Amino acid sequence: MIFNIDMIEKFYSQLEYKIENVKRVLDRPLTLTDKILYSHLNSDVVKEFIKGKDYVNFNPDRVAMQDATAQMALLQFMMAGKDKVAVPSTVHADHLIQAKTDSKLDLKNALDTNSEVYDFLSSVSNKYGIGFWKPGAGIIHQVVLENYAFPGGLMIGTDSHTVNAGGLGMLAIGVGGADAVDVMAGIAWELKYPKIIGVNLKGKLNGWASAKDIILKLAGILTVKGGTGHVIEYFGDGAESLSCTGKGTICNMGAEVGATCSTFGFDKSMEDYLIATGRNAVASLAKINYKNLTADPEVFNDPKSFYDQYIEINLDDLEPHLNGPFTPDKATPISKMAVEARKNNWPTEVQVGLIGSCTNSSYEDISRSASIAEQALEKNIKTKSKFTVTPGSELVRYTIERDGYIETFNKIGGSVFANACGPCIGQWARDGANKEEKNTIVHSFNRNFTKRADGNPNTHAFVGSPELVTAIAIAGDLTFNPLKDKLKNDNGEYIMLDPPSGYDLPKLGFEVKDNGYQEPSKNGHEIEIKINSNSERLQLLEKFSPWNQKDLIGLKLLIKASGKCTTDHISMAGPWLKFRGHLENISNNLLLGAVNEFTEQANNVKNAITKDYGSTPEIAKFYRKNNIDSIIVGDENYGEGSSREHAAMEPRYVGVKAVIVKSFARIHETNLKKQGILALTFNNKSDYNLIKEDDTFDIIDLNDFQPGKPLKVIINHTNNSKHEIIVDHTFNLNQIDWFKHGSALNQIASKENG
Ligand code: SF4
Repeated sequence: MIFNIDMIEKFYSQLEYKIENVKRVLDRPLTLTDKILYSHLNSDVVKEFIKGKDYVNFNPDRVAMQDATAQMALLQFMMAGKDKVAVPSTVHADHLIQAKTDSKLDLKNALDTNSEVYDFLSSVSNKYGIGFWKPGAGIIHQVVLENYAFPGGLMIGTDSHTVNAGGLGMLAIGVGGADAVDVMAGIAWELKYPKIIGVNLKGKLNGWASAKDIILKLAGILTVKGGTGHVIEYFGDGAESLSCTGKGTICNMGAEVGATCSTFGFDKSMEDYLIATGRNAVASLAKINYKNLTADPEVFNDPKSFYDQYIEINLDDLEPHLNGPFTPDKATPISKMAVEARKNNWPTEVQVGLIGSCTNSSYEDISRSASIAEQALEKNIKTKSKFTVTPGSELVRYTIERDGYIETFNKIGGSVFANACGPCIGQWARDGANKEEKNTIVHSFNRNFTKRADGNPNTHAFVGSPELVTAIAIAGDLTFNPLKDKLKNDNGEYIMLDPPSGYDLPKLGFEVKDNGYQEPSKNGHEIEIKINSNSERLQLLEKFSPWNQKDLIGLKLLIKASGKCTTDHISMAGPWLKFRGHLENISNNLLLGAVNEFTEQANNVKNAITKDYGSTPEIAKFYRKNNIDSIIVGDENYGEGSSREHAAMEPRYVGVKAVIVKSFARIHETNLKKQGILALTFNNKSDYNLIKEDDTFDIIDLNDFQPGKPLKVIINHTNNSKHEIIVDHTFNLNQIDWFKHGSALNQIASKENG
C-alpha cells in the first residue's frame, strides 16, 4: 500500500509549473533546497528571500510525531475544534519502551506501563484521521523513510531526527509540538529561510568506511554548532554511489551539527529503495520529475557561487571514525584512536557494543555488521564485549530474521531489543549503571552526550558505524583498528577480520507479517476520547480564558530571572518527561532552573502575598489557586534551547499574563504568543534594573494594542513611587487576535465554530 498517493500525485503534477515560475521570477539557477522550499510556499507571491533573515510561510506535506512529544501536541489539537487533520499525519510509539531483557519481554512491560498513554494516542489518532504505529512497529524516522518520505517533499516532525527523511530527497525538519498543531490545523508553518552548505562527495567508499563515517567526519569539521540555520545539500559522484539508507544516516546525524536539515538529489538509489519498499508509483513520478528534484547543473558546475559554504570530502581515502566521548563532534579516525585514548585516559576496555537505532538499522547496516559477526564464528573468535541490536522497524527486523542475521548475532552472544529507541534515549535498564563507574561503550546511534544512553555520567560513549562497532565489540578494545590489527582466536592463531560486505537491499525483498500500523477510523467523529481524571500522565486541556478587554492591573512578580534562562530552566526534561501529557503535573517543574535575581538562587522566590520564600513552582501554584495574575521578568535571549511548548503553556496555566525580558529566543517568543501571553521586551534594557522584588505591575492601554506600537507598563514600588516604562513587542495583527482570544488555538476553534 502506498500511503497518501493522492497527495504525492498532486504535488508532482504541479511541480514543473511551480519551478518554472520560480526560475522566471528569480532569474537564477536553483539549489535543491530552493526548489523544495519554493514549491511549498504558502503564498502565490514568489520573490527572492534573504537567507538567514526572512521568515517565510510554508505548507508542509505531512507531520510525524513520536509518542513522548505527540501527547501534548494532540491534547492541543483536540482544542482546535477540527474534525480531522489538515495534512497526512502519523504518531509512532517508540520512545517509551525500555530496553532491558529482550524484545518480547521489554515490549510486554512497555505495554503494561504505558498502556494509558498508548490507548490515548491510538484513540486520538483514530478520531482525527492520524495513522498510528503501535509499540513495536518501529522507530519514527525509519518508519517514515520506509513508508512516507518522497523526493522533493517537505515535512515536519516533533523530533530532532526527523531530518532522517532527507535520505529520500525530502526537506524534513524537527519542530516543537505547537508547530505540528498549527500544520495539522491547516495553518501555514514559518521558517527563517535557511542558508545552504554544499557538500561535494567525491570518489567511492571502500573497505571499512561507510556512510556513517562521512557524517562523523563532517561533524568533526563543522562541530555541533556549525550547521545552525543551514540546510546541508550533498551532491557529487560520491553521493550517487551511496545507498538511500546510507544517505538517511548522513541526514539523520545532520542534527548533530545543528543543521535545519540535510538532503540529497533524487537518484537511482532512491528509485531502488522506493521500489523495494513497494512504492513503484512514487519512483516513476520522481523519475519523470528528475530535473526538479536535484539542483540545477549550473550549481554543480560552480558550487561556490551558489552555496553559502562549500565543503569537499573524498570518499576514496575516508577512514572509519569513532566520535566521542560525550559529544558527537569529537572525531577520531580509527588509526589515531590508540594515541588519543592514551592521551585522554579513556577506558579502552569496551563493555558493550550497541548497533541499530533510527540512525543505523537499515538492511545494509545489518547485513554488513552480520558479515563481521559471521567471520568471528568462522574464525573461532569469541566476542569480548556485550553486544546488542536495536532494529529500526518491524519490516527490517522480520526481514533480517528471515535472512538469518538475527541468528548470527545471537550466536556471537548478542541480544536483540525491541524495535524502539531504547538505549538511544536513556531507556536502557543497564545493570550496574547506578554505580556510576567509569567505562566505555561503542554504538551506532547519533548522540553520545553525558548520561544519554544509561544515565551514568562516567560512561564514555563513542559513535561509529555498525560494522565498526561490531568489530570493536568482538575485539573488546576501543583501540582495535580492523584495518591493521590482528585478533587471537580460540586456537591461539592471529587472524584479521576482512572488510564488511552486505546488501543495500534484501535480495529476496522486504517481508513483514504485521507491520504494526493502525489505519484511522473512517467515522472518527463517533470516537470519544476518554482520559481518567485521576491519571498522573494525561490530562485534558481546558481552554485558556480570553482577554477581558481590560488593562492588566496589579500583576505580581513570579520571578525576576537573571542570566541564562533556557527552555530547560523553564521546563526541565529528564524525570519530567513522563508528565508531558499532563499540564498540571508538569507545571510542578516551572522555572525550577531559573536563578532569582534577588536571592541569587534557583528555585527560591518570594510569595508576594505571604512574604515567605519558597520553590518557584509552589508559589506559582499558590497564585493559580488564588487567581493571582503575575508576570515573569527575564534577561537576554530568554527561552533559548528547544521549541518545547510546555515552557510557554506552564506559565500560562499558572496565571502568568506577561513575560518582559531584555531579549527573547524567537521560537519561545512565538510560543508565548500562541498561548496568549504578552511577550514583551524592555525598550530601554536598563529598565530591568528598576524592578524590585515586591513591585506590582500594570500593563495599560491594551485597548489600543497594535502592531509596531509599544505598550506601557507601570511599575508600582512598595514606597508608593512608580515608574512608567515602554515595552516593545513583535505582535502582528493575527497574533494580537491570539492574545484577545486567549490563545492561538482558541482563535482557530472560534473560526471553526463560525
Ligand atoms: S532512536 Fe534515538 S535518535 Fe532515533 S528517534 Fe529514537 S531517541 Fe531519537
